[in-house]
Amino acid sequence: MDDDIKKEIRKMALQNAFEHDGQTQDKIILGKILGTKPEFRTKVKEISEVISEIVALVNQLSSEEQQSEIEKEFPELLKPKEKVEEKEGLPDLPGAEQGKVVTRFPPEPNGYPHIGHAKAAIINSEYAKMYGGKFILRMDDTNPEAERMEYHAAIKVGLEWLGIQFDQVKSTSDDMEVFYEKGKELINSGKAYVCTCKRDEISKNRRERKDCKCSFDDIEKNNKNWDKMNEKFKPGEAIVRFRGDMKADNAVMRDPVLFRIIDEKHYTVGDKYRIWPSYDMAVAIEDSIDGVTHAFRSKEFELRKELIDAILDALDMRKPYQGFFSRLEFKGMPISKRIIKPLIEEGKVSWYDDPRLPTLEALRRRGVKPEAIRKFIMSLGLTKANTLAPFDALEAFNRKFVDATSKRLFMVSHAKKLTVNNLSLTAVEIPNHPVNDMGKRKIEIDSGFYISGEDAETIKEGMQIRLLGLGNVSITKVGSEFEGDFVGDGDTTNIPKIQWVSEKNAHEIKMIIPKTLFNGEEFNEDSLEELDVYTEPHYLQLKEGEEIQFVRFGYCRKDSQNQAIFTHK
Ligand SMILES: [Zn+2]
Repeated sequence: MDDDIKKEIRKMALQNAFEHDGQTQDKIILGKILGTKPEFRTKVKEISEVISEIVALVNQLSSEEQQSEIEKEFPELLKPKEKVEEKEGLPDLPGAEQGKVVTRFPPEPNGYPHIGHAKAAIINSEYAKMYGGKFILRMDDTNPEAERMEYHAAIKVGLEWLGIQFDQVKSTSDDMEVFYEKGKELINSGKAYVCTCKRDEISKNRRERKDCKCSFDDIEKNNKNWDKMNEKFKPGEAIVRFRGDMKADNAVMRDPVLFRIIDEKHYTVGDKYRIWPSYDMAVAIEDSIDGVTHAFRSKEFELRKELIDAILDALDMRKPYQGFFSRLEFKGMPISKRIIKPLIEEGKVSWYDDPRLPTLEALRRRGVKPEAIRKFIMSLGLTKANTLAPFDALEAFNRKFVDATSKRLFMVSHAKKLTVNNLSLTAVEIPNHPVNDMGKRKIEIDSGFYISGEDAETIKEGMQIRLLGLGNVSITKVGSEFEGDFVGDGDTTNIPKIQWVSEKNAHEIKMIIPKTLFNGEEFNEDSLEELDVYTEPHYLQLKEGEEIQFVRFGYCRKDSQNQAIFTHK
């Protein structure tokens, strides 16, 4: 064994010991060495002996001695650790300079924001944070046909709920004059032309990789046609096309659309404009003039990268770095408007906040915490493989947030009546959380109780059950109603320990249980279960929107005084 490796082992041992009250262990150091120095994997026996010797020596040192050796020999170990947690999952940005990174989130206000939007917003905003840069929200509103103020507002509300902050907020339609100026520049340099072919002719030419007759028009004619687009031409009769390459393998490059005519009223600028830039034109120009250095969007736009670069090259404008990430969807919870809208119209789904949907409003209503969404998305990182995550994956993150703060309450479904005789207590106090100090609640009781139907099925005459927080009951009668004698504190081993609700103050609510919306391609007709259940009166004291755990049932969110939504187990 050479001295370098011995030094490395000593360094690891000192560091580990120092972090763990002065003691380290052979197997921890062995693991670290084999992890970082694969060449030793075939020499485990030899290296183990060396480790064992060094660890024994290091463990004999006092913490002070360990610290002074680290200070002298390995001062790099004492430097404050960088905030690795924030970077979790996200790789470094190419060509990024601290303080100079500009990213943006450019949603189109043509629908309600969903988990896919959350991913784009979070990744772009995390990158700006990572580099102390600037983050822009840009409403990409250049298709008045599809866009509405309603969606614009919903996106802003959703982002606010996610806790995402922007350094600048703008709309793409703010820059219409810039688009016109750049469009004319392209026409005047012969890099764009007005095409008046019919739609199917354009598609045919694209398929056959042939130029159309308009592409031979001179600049003067193109300028005249551009003016006509403002008045004479009807929507669909003329478009401006970028002179790409009709022979290109990337179909996006086959003379794509830069501008088209839309006569619909725009939700903020009204009917001031009728020539609107296409998505590619808008993104190219906006990212460049907004100073965006790194533009991330989802993978389905990957083929458009070449076009966006080509537009900016043709205009001699600055090009941002373009990165891509996979789309995020939950299994059985489609995000597409084409799928969700008809379900709402047919009444199969109540609205965009229906808890079966992956919209931000629905997730919030279901009891998913924004912090959990952020952690979940960061855990996925920047993988390009498409993510069709099971909803459970998000649940695991959410559980960590709701568990600590959710009050535990009793709720029974398919209630059965239980009469308890010889009960002298008139009230009982039960802690709101098993571990955290979240106070207690007092429940008034008499002989009448409700227990859940599921528990009732397992109860036989003569056996004892434990009513949680109250005491044991010896069952004397079973059937459509149950009866028993109060025993008090008794042996609780091997007897059912069940929740209950006092009949005299039981509060009836509707429990909404969302399930997977689609099984494969098929709509799940049983995707929403509704139960009439009894809960304790304390439910009425909870704030609307508060997350609770119904004991032995799962986490739920209070939707109203009369309705709760099941979040997850
Ligand atoms: Zn044409």
